[in-house]
Amino acid sequence: MINRTPQRKVVVTGAGGFIGHHLVTQLKQQGFWVRGVDLKYPEYSPTDADEFLIADLRRWDACLAATRDAEDVYALAADMGGMGFISAHHAEILHNNILISTHTMEAARQNGVRRYLYTSSACIYPEYRQTDTNVEPLKEEHAYPAQPQDAYGWEKLVTERLCTHYAQDYGIDVRIVRFHNIFGPLGTWDGGREKAPAALCRKVAVAKLTGKREIEIWGDGEQTRSFCYIDDCVKGLRLLMESGYQQPINLGQDRLISINELADLVANAAGVDIGRKHIPGPQGVRGRNSNNDRLREVLGWEPEISLEEGMARTYAWIEAQVVERFDAEVTDAVA
Ligand code: NAD
Repeated sequence: MINRTPQRKVVVTGAGGFIGHHLVTQLKQQGFWVRGVDLKYPEYSPTDADEFLIADLRRWDACLAATRDAEDVYALAADMGGMGFISAHHAEILHNNILISTHTMEAARQNGVRRYLYTSSACIYPEYRQTDTNVEPLKEEHAYPAQPQDAYGWEKLVTERLCTHYAQDYGIDVRIVRFHNIFGPLGTWDGGREKAPAALCRKVAVAKLTGKREIEIWGDGEQTRSFCYIDDCVKGLRLLMESGYQQPINLGQDRLISINELADLVANAAGVDIGRKHIPGPQGVRGRNSNNDRLREVLGWEPEISLEEGMARTYAWIEAQVVERFDAEVTDAVA
């Protein structure tokens, strides 16, 4: 008789989204049994999950079904998008994400989930620490006194507290990760929810395809950020889940770059010269960077894929999407 170790049962909420989809693939490669949950299936490639539940996690009954029999939960589901979306949908985002977060957490508790990882964001950091392009990298303790810029950040901060109290009061083994601008292939690249790296890749790809060598940039483009490639993000998530560390922790790169510089980097990946036209638009905070001291200390690791490498891979994927759509539109017009 063969003795098999039972596969660990893991749930990923938001598995139809960018990071969740990549995480499911990684978990399957590492031998877990995975249930993905989302409002939708992944858009650009099929899921590797053993089971995929289409469900609205704002609903309590859906959260109970989603977390049933699970040992670990990775809670990634959220109503979110880039600055254009986040700065224009405060009520909707706060309402939806509070319901998703509180119901998923409580359902996990009632279902006896052992470990629970919550994906928070650099958007929890106070606006008053991010007024300069040459910003001091944000340490975890900089979260308070709290003053996130948007409702999206306030919900993330409150849910961080919820996780901490569930750990204290109910003994759930929580993880709280603060992502700093994750990017890569298979992420949203158009439609209004895309973030700056994907939007820039799309604009440059369209400029290259049409020969109109100019792209629009919101604001003066001098606002700064750091960007972390998806493979590093997923690796960090797995390391953190296995770490035993229960306090909030940054997960991102600590290389600061302006949006103008990022646009040049994308143009370089595309192999074209691109002009920049600055137009009014939401820019978020003036500068934001990750301090990775705690990450290095806790995980003995930090993201290692360079921005040039990550952006080259991302650009190649988005250019292929743009070309495919362009070809389909030409075929439709001819037919
Ligand atoms: P994403 O938008 O690609 O994925 C989120 C998924 O949640 C989507 O597929 C969406 O359909 C799903 N969802 C939304 N409402 C739902 C509902 N009511 N029920 C079930 N599913 C629902 O975003 P992502 O980039 O993969 O982000 C994953 C997590 O990481 C989110 O919690 C996000 O707030 C957080 N985060 C991401 C970044 C980043 O740079 N991508 C930065 C900071 C924090």
